[in-house]
Amino acid sequence: MDLIIKGLSKTYGNGVKALDNVSLHIPKGMFGLLGPNGAGKSTLMRILATLQEADAGSVMLGDIDVLKQKDEVRRTLGYLPQEFGVYPKVSAYEMLDHIALLKGVTVKSERKDLVEALLQRVNLWDQKKRRLSGFSGGMKQRFGIAQSLIGEPKLIIVDEPTAGLDPGERNRFYNLLTEIGENVVVILSTHIVQDVKELCSNMAIIHKGKLLFAGSPDESLRGIDGKVWEKSIAKSELEGYAAGGQLISNRLVAGQPVIHLLSDVPPGAGFVLVEPSLEDVFFGAINRSNVETVTA
Ligand code: ADP
Repeated sequence: MDLIIKGLSKTYGNGVKALDNVSLHIPKGMFGLLGPNGAGKSTLMRILATLQEADAGSVMLGDIDVLKQKDEVRRTLGYLPQEFGVYPKVSAYEMLDHIALLKGVTVKSERKDLVEALLQRVNLWDQKKRRLSGFSGGMKQRFGIAQSLIGEPKLIIVDEPTAGLDPGERNRFYNLLTEIGENVVVILSTHIVQDVKELCSNMAIIHKGKLLFAGSPDESLRGIDGKVWEKSIAKSELEGYAAGGQLISNRLVAGQPVIHLLSDVPPGAGFVLVEPSLEDVFFGAINRSNVETVTA
């Protein structure tokens, strides 16, 4: 069951155009929605999760009209928001049992089987009696996945799931998502390029509400192949390159800035052509879009 988004737009009351005519075809598997803070990711996620209205456009999940048939969507949706809000002083087991009941699993023995299976699946079995309020960030995220899986969803939305996780927790979370992504549409919204690199077979980049790229990570890399140039520079030169409009990244190596420029032709003495990374794709797309906005 694919998710097909056509011409989706949303402008907030303060005039901010959070989504500007976004169209996307999202197949089964892990889909990365990549964008910097303020890009419009959460707005899109909330519209897909039926928590917010769009101004224009259409969204179909199989034959469900997502913008109109909200009850049908909710029955087949697993949503893991950025922040859960309050983590009550009840155990993981009790909370999952309660959510399962709310979601309509009314037979006690069925609920027990389901909750136990979910706790095993997200590797929280040993913590089942522990209060949620004492969970670490990674444990909370895994609990979030467990609750989103109740009801066998066809669409799972996770909003910025790895922010604040340490590398070990992030890895455990990646493995869990990969397993789940085999059978359903999973949309992973993130500003962390590594999340998409590790997990997603398809992706989109959005910025200021506009879709800048949609396709596979490999396709995106091919798009800038032969155009990414690297040079180690003096700190004092950085500002000049930043003002030039072609700068896509800047990192310190042993205290000295190493920059990447995006250019069709050699940008000058000392630059060497390098193999593009997904970071280059991401920052290159954002940078080009900023330059186009300024010059338009
Ligand atoms: P992201 O999730 O990519 O960080 P958001 O969808 O949260 O982006 O926000 C997109 C833009 O819409 C931002 O400029 C943000 O400030 C603005 N925005 C988000 N929510 C509201 C709101 N409720 N009212 C007004 N502006 C909002």
